[in-house]
Amino acid sequence: MNSQVNYISTTATEVDIFKPATQTLPNRCVNTTCPYCGTGCGVTVDINDQGAPDANNPSNNLTLSGDSRHPTNQGKLCSKGINLLETLDPAARLLYPERHGRRVSWDQALGSAASQIRSIIDQHGPDAFAIYCSGQLLTEDYYVANKLMKGFIGTANIDTNSRLCMSSAVAAHKRAFGSDTVPGCYEDLDIAELMVLAGSNMAWCHPILFQRIKAAKAANPAHKLVVIDPRRTASCDLADLHLALKPGSDASLFNGLLVYLADQHCLDSDFVAAHTQGFDAALNQARRSTPDIASVAQICELPASDVETFYRWFADTPKTVTAFSQGINQSSSGTDKVNAIINTHLASGRIGKPGMGPFSLTGQPNAMGGREVGGLANQLAAHLELDDPAHRDLVGRFWGSDRVASQPGHKAVDLFRAIEAGKVKAVWILATNPVDSLPDADRVRAALQQCELVILSDCMAATDTAALAHIRLPATGWGERDGTVTNSERCISRQRALLPASGEAKPDWWAISQIAQRLGFEQAFDYQAPWQIFREHARLSAFENHKGATLRDFNLAALSQIDADAYEALQPTRWPITTFADDGQPQGSARLFGDGQFFTPDGRARLLAITPRGPMNPVDAHYPLVLNTGRIRDQWHTMTRTGLSPRLSAQCPEPFVEIHPLEAARQGLDDGAIARLESRWGTMLARIQITDSIGQGQLFVPMHWTAQFASLGRMGPLVNPAVDPLSGQPENKQTPVKIEPFNASWYGFLLSRDPLKPISMASCAYQVRATGAGFHRYELADSDTPDDWRQQARRWIARTNTQEDEWLEFSDPAQGNYRSALIRDGQLQAVLVVGATAQLPERDWLGSLFNGQRLEESEHHSLLSSCPPSGSANAGAIVCACFGVGRNSIAEAIERQGLDSVEALGCALKAGTNCGSCIPELKTLLYNSQQGSTLSA
Ligand code: SF4
Repeated sequence: MNSQVNYISTTATEVDIFKPATQTLPNRCVNTTCPYCGTGCGVTVDINDQGAPDANNPSNNLTLSGDSRHPTNQGKLCSKGINLLETLDPAARLLYPERHGRRVSWDQALGSAASQIRSIIDQHGPDAFAIYCSGQLLTEDYYVANKLMKGFIGTANIDTNSRLCMSSAVAAHKRAFGSDTVPGCYEDLDIAELMVLAGSNMAWCHPILFQRIKAAKAANPAHKLVVIDPRRTASCDLADLHLALKPGSDASLFNGLLVYLADQHCLDSDFVAAHTQGFDAALNQARRSTPDIASVAQICELPASDVETFYRWFADTPKTVTAFSQGINQSSSGTDKVNAIINTHLASGRIGKPGMGPFSLTGQPNAMGGREVGGLANQLAAHLELDDPAHRDLVGRFWGSDRVASQPGHKAVDLFRAIEAGKVKAVWILATNPVDSLPDADRVRAALQQCELVILSDCMAATDTAALAHIRLPATGWGERDGTVTNSERCISRQRALLPASGEAKPDWWAISQIAQRLGFEQAFDYQAPWQIFREHARLSAFENHKGATLRDFNLAALSQIDADAYEALQPTRWPITTFADDGQPQGSARLFGDGQFFTPDGRARLLAITPRGPMNPVDAHYPLVLNTGRIRDQWHTMTRTGLSPRLSAQCPEPFVEIHPLEAARQGLDDGAIARLESRWGTMLARIQITDSIGQGQLFVPMHWTAQFASLGRMGPLVNPAVDPLSGQPENKQTPVKIEPFNASWYGFLLSRDPLKPISMASCAYQVRATGAGFHRYELADSDTPDDWRQQARRWIARTNTQEDEWLEFSDPAQGNYRSALIRDGQLQAVLVVGATAQLPERDWLGSLFNGQRLEESEHHSLLSSCPPSGSANAGAIVCACFGVGRNSIAEAIERQGLDSVEALGCALKAGTNCGSCIPELKTLLYNSQQGSTLSA
């Protein structure tokens, strides 16, 4: 356990200091960072060391809140961050090293891994070994992995899942700026007067940043928000203008903007002349593709008046930030789309100054840290370039190695193709789940199944990728790890340990260093603590970073002498960090390029001539619909951690497909039923959500579900593996698919106090598991109806009958209804509800019965009707995941207390008062209630 006392959070101490000494006081508080999105919020955890430690419930002595002193979030957290403690479940952790499924010692696991890697390299060369890692890794882990591969093994076959989220932004930054630089900072979101969100549902994917925009809007009546997204997302709730453009047409929209700015004489000609190159070619190409607003409107399928409004607002508002994310990056022309955005900012001189600039939002907590250390297969460490001999020479001299890789390695999608082809024979996967998250994911799974050696480092035991690993290495998880992460605005923050490592889990940097030492690189990997790695990383960033060919943006010179104490106390700071403030603390940099100097050979930024391109695999007669994929509010990536939280699982317990009402009618789909989606690459089953928030011809599915939670709910197998030729980023937003009804003859759900044994696919094709509070929820459906529901129920629930077992049962075969419940010692053990249609009773009240001890008489009687006895509380489906406020509680408060605003709901129930992500849903409930009153009046 980390015994270091960190700086004390004012939120805890100001209140607690006045409590009587006899009370159990929080006696330590640790400031760390949220492990989810690229926003990078600070988290404070109060640790009550006087309470009894409980190995089965490590969070019982902890109290978590937002870090009020972290500049990113200033005390706020979104639903995922605030529910972090619910995800600390030791039962879900990978606790011990394993080889072929059997527990072994660390020494055996490392020895076995190293000898097999050595043997494969000796026989087939260094390129036969690869690492596939993740934006979840800490910078120190990432640095050591990259140093081992590119510096000592001599291959650049190390890539990361950040390839899937922001590599197009990296490629575009380098083309435009000569460096992978995010020019601005979060304060720019606060002071911008026009905020453009392109391909970003910030309200759900970066909720705390969205709260900053909301605050900026509230403080400035002139503030405008434009959302550019084919779907009407939660971010549109605050938008002054939503441009629901044709999927993939973003480059045309921004090319058209460049033409408009030129025609309206709204360019910064002085800036263009003094600090850029390529303007004429970029403008000429833009004119060819989109000569006027009418052509933009036609290509993007938008009303011309809306296009003109956006262009006019942009032209009239110097303080404009264009934030973009996966909707732009995840495209076979993602790099061009980002450059089309950057062109407009360079042409109008809106870069590097307060309140303006293009702003890449990173998906993962340390996507930026990965870029700093060269985690992508085409980068070298410290923002140096693999294809530059001077850079390779610099890194080789710094590391004391003459083996520095000279050729780029395989990018993510190609890496798994190389495994499939047998060129890569051993792969080490760290902190990611490519069997689910990569496109054409079943092919990835097949590639790993026939790979000679698969090593997996992960903190979680049950992932779809873990099932294929020959050697599994337990990694420390959030709350146990020590290191640094960098968020979207270049701010480096500490993740600090607050708990001892679970089981025999070890930091990833330690496991990588141990393998490196066993491969013969003892001296270069003799690390004892993460601060030593960070110091080396800082020193490399500053090494010969003065002028000429090795000058670069990334520079931590002021941290290059950091020691253990200074590392422990390190405060959030934005790089470059090259100077010291008056108080002696390292001083960061809010913005770059304010002086018009860029990292190209001539110091000028580049505007790129962009020819808009459509998707690499367009729709056709067989696959006529465009599939879009993305995140939902309360889950993170492949749900390995957030799927453990009852609160986070409540808002959306199943994979779904959004479809427009007219499209649904055309395809014969009913709301709430199940659909089968098919692409050229795979299939998926999902619950149908009919909504006009998506256009005709389009579908949307969430990215999160895996085989651990859903029988056929994985998105990855469907997704188009086409990639951007420059960035290698896959086209996750535009897969041609078809959709049809899944012909279920019955639908059901089963709630059980204990987890069920896996239900065989033969008895139920559609199965989705979700975590409830004290129970497990299973949604079920199939096209074949069991002959005997009673037998089937007993098989699924799989209980050995005891004398105390009481079964309640109701069967109506003519209507296709069956219900049964198992009660033991007066407690509900399991309940199964089956019907002929998807219109089944609500699950919330039944779920709440698993919280209580013994069933009340009235509850007992109401069980099979699934209706709460009159007068009993039923909060309903969770709407506000931060405070666990249910739909029924909200509806009741609206009705009984006459509440008519989100603010009033917040005062009454706290709903919507933390991260605010549920506010659109609260508004819908208020609207529906008002409509109901109007109709009944
Ligand atoms: Fe974590 Fe939410 Fe902050 Fe992202 S916005 S870092 S998920 S608390």
